[in-house]
Amino acid sequence: MEGSAPDSVGTQSSWLRCYRCWSQNLEVQLHYEGILKVDPDTGEAVDPVEEVQEAVVQCLDCLHDQPHLALTFYEENGRRVSRIEAVEDRWERMVTGTPWVASCTVTVDGDQVETCSGPEAADSLAFAAFGDHGTREFFTHVRFHKHEDDGAIVVHMLVELYARSAEEASEVLESAARGSLAITSLAEESRPPASSPGEPH
Ligand SMILES: [Zn+2]
Repeated sequence: MEGSAPDSVGTQSSWLRCYRCWSQNLEVQLHYEGILKVDPDTGEAVDPVEEVQEAVVQCLDCLHDQPHLALTFYEENGRRVSRIEAVEDRWERMVTGTPWVASCTVTVDGDQVETCSGPEAADSLAFAAFGDHGTREFFTHVRFHKHEDDGAIVVHMLVELYARSAEEASEVLESAARGSLAITSLAEESRPPASSPGEPH
């Protein structure tokens, strides 16, 4: 991945940090789920038939997830190693941007919403509106939703996302939206204070 980022900001330390407080105090929470084949003679469980790994990078200073960072596994000298890499189309906007808060609606087909009541409702409406961006990258607050006569669902939300300009913020919302998007207001907020390295915890 080296050299794929612009030179001015392409050093590793520019992206290997929390996008909110710029702390480099990060950890990975790895959730692993696997299915192993059982040998009928020896009882040995070997050869994963299926494996699923979900890695979430978190900042230990502000405790936020880091959706601009991903864990990649590869072989190095016959050894399996893992390393954090930047998500190319996301990190620069998030690390150098500021928070923007949009009041908006996304109109989606009713069958895109898994459930619109109960404890899962907010997540499921946020996912229907913005996919993974809605549940993993943005801070999405679903205020309410409305069922239209034609079966469509209008999801009313307050969304916080990081971007370098108002135009970029609208573009990101537009490309993440899984239905028709209407932005009623968009305002820039101030960045949370940066954590300074060496500061005692
Ligand atoms: Zn942080």
